[in-house]
Amino acid sequence: MWLSQSDYSHAIMPFPLDEKSMKKLIGSNLLWSGLLILLSACAGAASTPTHPPTATLSPTRALSATPSSPPTRTTVPSATPSPEPTLIPRPTLADEGLVDFSILHINDFHGQVLFHETEFGVPPEGGDRFPGDISATGAARLAFFVKSYREKVGAESMLLLDAGDLIQASPDANDSQGQVVLDVINQIGFQAGMAGNHEFFFGESRFLEIAEQQKAGGFQFLAANISARKPNSSRCQPNLILPPYLIFDLGKDPGPKVRVAVIGLANQSYPEWGFDNESLCISSSPLAALKEYYPKLKDQEFADIIVVLSHQGYDEDMALAKAATQQNTPVDLIIGGHSHTYLDQPGLVGATYIVQVGEYGKRVGIFDLTFNRATKKLDVAWKTEDIKTSTPEDPQTVQFLQTALPAAQP
Ligand SMILES: [Zn+2]
Repeated sequence: MWLSQSDYSHAIMPFPLDEKSMKKLIGSNLLWSGLLILLSACAGAASTPTHPPTATLSPTRALSATPSSPPTRTTVPSATPSPEPTLIPRPTLADEGLVDFSILHINDFHGQVLFHETEFGVPPEGGDRFPGDISATGAARLAFFVKSYREKVGAESMLLLDAGDLIQASPDANDSQGQVVLDVINQIGFQAGMAGNHEFFFGESRFLEIAEQQKAGGFQFLAANISARKPNSSRCQPNLILPPYLIFDLGKDPGPKVRVAVIGLANQSYPEWGFDNESLCISSSPLAALKEYYPKLKDQEFADIIVVLSHQGYDEDMALAKAATQQNTPVDLIIGGHSHTYLDQPGLVGATYIVQVGEYGKRVGIFDLTFNRATKKLDVAWKTEDIKTSTPEDPQTVQFLQTALPAAQP
């Protein structure tokens, strides 16, 4: 069984907030702010702002860093589609052998770095829990599980991804404008993530600061359709602020490799991106962005597998899989977020698997995959692991959190 986005929205309808109120709540750092902001955004209560464009941003352009942990991450030529970069064709990989590899993923973590049974305390005596009460098992338990899995399959054969709404909502996350979350995510060894709408709730300039920070390496936000407006232009033209995709060569050394392209796609249709002054914008639909990059990924990067990291919701991911298949740009996996959907089985449209794993780091999705280099066939198995209070804590993450948040216990 899975909860659809409409089920989720229904549960939180008592808390509509407009966008200004949401921003004020972030600033006030009230205990409620994380919940209210989260609920309002997901309930679609915000309206689309209509501010004129500004021309003062200097978004990031290129990615030149190496990852904090294997596998090899190769550099994307440019995050800016215009002018078109000269792309030196990547050599293809040898066409022989089977490659086993794994992709682990989370979504809608919302800054839940600490264990807590519920974010907002015990409800009034005899009363029900407040709608939307948040419990979380914390980053240390999540870290224990993914690090153990990495040890089992080998770092060179595993990708660790996030599908958005990572850094904002919990009081700890909000206190540091998401920094403590980014630091712990790096420490755990996450490699790439889709920039979700909540990533922008600390303001556009703060997000651009994060994008700049990520040039140094480690975890990298992606988005193939989030742009900075060009000076004096009210139109949202492609002018990307993040790398649209990353390429990973996975597989044990020595041995055959599989080349995996991971592309980030943002929903164009919902209004709650949290852009505070409209100098950022969504420059194309997820399908249009995918179609733009698809030939590059296939013909110039020689990607064997295309993974979409999407932040738009499960129903929209299913529709994207269908449209992409019909328009001859089928992808292998869509790892989604935003609707906080729990799935027991992956969605399947054509040959595209569509997954999502709830929220707050309480569940991890696991693809165990085998790619046959000779036949190009991909065998897919997907399972989930719930991170429970009985899951051991990763000592390194505990230590990190004790230093970063001395008043809190992980
Ligand atoms: Zn979202």
